Amino acid sequence: MLISAKAVLLGSGEVLVPGMVRVLGSRIIQVAEDLSLRTGEERVVLEDSVLSPGLINTHVHLDYTGLRGQLPATSFPAWVKEILRLKASLSRGSLEAALCEGFGLLARSGTTGVGNMESYPELLLLADRIPLRCWWFLEMIDLRPHVWSEEATFAVLRFFDQPPVPLGRLGLAPHAPYTASPELYRLVRDSAQRFRLPVTTHVAESPEEWTMFWEGDGELLDLVSQAGRPRMAGRELSPLQWLDRIGGLTPGMLLVHLNYLCEADWTLLATRAFPVVHCPKSHAFFSYAPFPLERMLSLGIPVCLGTDSLASNDTLDLREEIRQARHRHPGIAPKRWWEMVTATPARALGLRGALGEIRGGAWADLAAFRWRSGLDPWESCIESREEPLFLMVHGKVRKAEGRWLP
Ligand SMILES: [Zn+2]
Repeated sequence: MLISAKAVLLGSGEVLVPGMVRVLGSRIIQVAEDLSLRTGEERVVLEDSVLSPGLINTHVHLDYTGLRGQLPATSFPAWVKEILRLKASLSRGSLEAALCEGFGLLARSGTTGVGNMESYPELLLLADRIPLRCWWFLEMIDLRPHVWSEEATFAVLRFFDQPPVPLGRLGLAPHAPYTASPELYRLVRDSAQRFRLPVTTHVAESPEEWTMFWEGDGELLDLVSQAGRPRMAGRELSPLQWLDRIGGLTPGMLLVHLNYLCEADWTLLATRAFPVVHCPKSHAFFSYAPFPLERMLSLGIPVCLGTDSLASNDTLDLREEIRQARHRHPGIAPKRWWEMVTATPARALGLRGALGEIRGGAWADLAAFRWRSGLDPWESCIESREEPLFLMVHGKVRKAEGRWLP
């Protein structure tokens, strides 16, 4: 297939105007300003459009897609209590519907890859029906002894033995320092290295989490202590420093949030190259302290964007995340924002050059957006409020000529 567009974003801030991309099977095989059509080759002409690598949402909980608008913007511990109450009433059918709706919302915003935190492992039985590239991060909490159901165990073992290649991948997600024990973090670290699995965790999200670890006090500590976690004394340790002390940091671990940091954390981040995931709209929902994005970027820390779930957001659209975040960080160029949803997450997930970029040899995950006159091509993509004009995942066309394909 030969795809031509008014502009092609190659990744890392480079663009071809105009540009053509040749796809064979699941891969991009050629990219140039001009390529000639081969005999028998299908042609796709995307008028007035920018062809981009498909977006990658590095942090979402699709299980909670059905909870949109049901939780108040309140303190984090109060929100946790409320989501636990709502989760208790979710049926298997509503969870499956939430998952399917979530994948649909992602596709309709130009997203082709997603890191989904999965707290119901039995839903992995659906994984081979999912049309987007998905990292299924098994969310793990061990406040209390907990035994998985036979179905959940079967679903994960089946996925592990026969992953739905090429779009499904397994990952591990100890939930957070306040809900996962040191033993669990270390087990995840060792398992991830043995089986070469990506790992992510929430860390340093809320002021209450900071107070729990630094001062050994507060509403979040009370909540998790009631749920079974041993009470702890204050150690003047940040949540990230605590993770490091217990040996819970896996190399390459995607650290989600990092809203509250001490100087020792900055030293750790500057020297050990952990990718960071920032969720701007969820951050604003909870009115957290300003996110230190400029400092992270100036230190070369790889920053990816995620949406978190619809329990603390009203969208799964990364373009909206950027539009919101730009008000708080106006000095960052559009191409830099676009990297945070394409090339940087691909690298964070271990796929440098294979995803998040348009180049020969990369997988053909592509999204096209309308190029508005007067805007640069990255700005046009960010400001686009419509569905993508064209969507391809792993070489398979999902949307073209105004129609979604099965
Ligand atoms: Zn989250």
